[in-house]
Amino acid sequence: MQANVDLHSHSNHSDGQLSPAQVAHRAHANGVQLWALSDHDNLSGIAQAQAAADALGMGFIAGVEISVTWGGRTIHVLGLNIDPQNQGLQQGLAGIRKQRSSRALQIANKLAALGMPGAYEGALQEAKDPQLLGRVHFARFLLSQGYCASMQEAFKLYLGDGKQAYIPTLWVSLEQALGWINAAGGKAVIAHPGRYTYGCAQEAELFSQFKDLGGVAVEVISGCHSKAQYRQYAKVTQAYGLQASRGSDFHAPGSSRVDLGLMPALPAQLTPVWHDWL
Ligand code: AMP
Ligand code: MN
Ligand code: MN
Ligand code: MN
Repeated sequence: MQANVDLHSHSNHSDGQLSPAQVAHRAHANGVQLWALSDHDNLSGIAQAQAAADALGMGFIAGVEISVTWGGRTIHVLGLNIDPQNQGLQQGLAGIRKQRSSRALQIANKLAALGMPGAYEGALQEAKDPQLLGRVHFARFLLSQGYCASMQEAFKLYLGDGKQAYIPTLWVSLEQALGWINAAGGKAVIAHPGRYTYGCAQEAELFSQFKDLGGVAVEVISGCHSKAQYRQYAKVTQAYGLQASRGSDFHAPGSSRVDLGLMPALPAQLTPVWHDWL
């Protein structure tokens, strides 16, 4: 039987709500045998995550989810099994976090102009650091103030791409992100491809460039994917000769669609990205 592997999750070192140790305990309680913490553009939770996983006797992979701009849109690339001490990766991520803090001020200004003041301070109550601020922190603030009825609505009305308080951001290129991941000894994985809204030709171009730049795998089984998308991306992954990953994209109890480790197994015909890590 396939091991229970979950290689995509968030802690309060990005936009999750649990500490890295709490995520580790929850993963272990759910039967996860190999777990990766993959906070957005940040590695500060890795040491705590590793220590907690070691104490539980659970396998651990250091990860990160990098914000990338490709074809005029944002995509997420996971770096798995990276060396968290790698200087190039650390410096690259530090640059992205600077962009996060200036974007947060701009988002707050837009919300204030729309009659919702105090969003920067409100969002910061949920985040460890201004440089870690993301749209989820703003969504939680909007929800807590009654400006929206759900997190989904916060994105639909204000924070989602192209909505009223959306700030377009030029993150890093695919080439840069893969360069850092590869130099840090990791494997690059396209996260939740089913969430992107490219046309067929552009999506094909993304996979082909990703492979040419040294990308290794596709997140086929994702907490963000439908059953039809599991099948669709299993086919695409095979067609490009890429490996496959599995991740819940867990953020918080009750708010994530799928809890840690509770997804279907990878289709048997695919090569797991973790094949040489167990
Ligand atoms: P950011 O990286 O700050 O732009 O925020 C992206 C994060 O927002 C994603 O990782 C998800 O956690 C969350 N997110 C994006 N779209 C939605 C949505 N429609 N509903 C709920 N959460 C979302
Ligand atoms: Mn997130
Ligand atoms: Mn993502
Ligand atoms: Mn994620």
